[in-house]
Amino acid sequence: MLEIRNLHVTVDDKPILRGLDLTVMAGEVHAIMGPNGSGKSTLAHVLAGREGYVVTAGEILYLGKNLLELAPEERAREGIFLAFQYPVEIPGVANIYLLKAAVNAVRRHRGEQELDAMDFLVLVKEKFRLMDMDESLLYRAVNEGFSGGEKKRNEILQMAVLEPRLAILDETDSGLDIDALKVVANGVEAMRDPDRAIILVTHYQRLLDHIRPDRVHVLAQGRIALSGGPELAQELERRGYGWVEAEAQKMA
Ligand code: ADP
Ligand code: MG
Ligand code: MG
Repeated sequence: MLEIRNLHVTVDDKPILRGLDLTVMAGEVHAIMGPNGSGKSTLAHVLAGREGYVVTAGEILYLGKNLLELAPEERAREGIFLAFQYPVEIPGVANIYLLKAAVNAVRRHRGEQELDAMDFLVLVKEKFRLMDMDESLLYRAVNEGFSGGEKKRNEILQMAVLEPRLAILDETDSGLDIDALKVVANGVEAMRDPDRAIILVTHYQRLLDHIRPDRVHVLAQGRIALSGGPELAQELERRGYGWVEAEAQKMA
């Protein structure tokens, strides 16, 4: 699904990622962990094609294609979805309108028939129930005045409606209370699929109490410094990140 080789990325001429390698297979859930400022969001933004993140070396293959040649909107059409750490508010655009436009753009691209208003409502209301969200949020401007928890749920809702091939969730657990955390975790678990890969970017282990990742990676010194199974997340919770950073520094 995704193969990243020797990725180097600068932001404002400052090197952030410095030789990152990562392979994610279809059907897998990977967790990317690491201390604040280690470049987790940078990686997520590079995958989504966000402006300002300059790839100076390395390559990214997505379903065998050179991802870096695709514009951000092409990446989205090809099935890449990014849930932002800080979801953007879009004043004047109703949530329902954005969701419908996005899902039908993807369907057109796949050569599938567009959903009419009725079919779309059935689909979106089912996902609202899954995310335990109040339907009034459908008719509000996207994320405007949403609470932190509502924004995060809305991100997962977008993912559930769009059914991406590769989903990247950046700190979707931050700022959630325990009930919202469970709802978000259930929403993500419901998206597990043999044809889909999910990358969970998270600073804390607590989301991983509810979603069992296949692989856990630690970002330090601009690369994946350590990889392991789900037990690695628990070890990080106990021991912190300092020892991984120290090891990575020795290797650098
Ligand atoms: P994480 O998500 O792991 O906390 P980030 O990817 O957000 O880390 O940040 C990695 C480093 O890149 C930090 O040192 C941060 O200050 C810097 N950085 C990220 N985005 C920008 C930006 N837009 N302009 C300048 N520096 C940035
Ligand atoms: Mg951060
Ligand atoms: Mg971040």
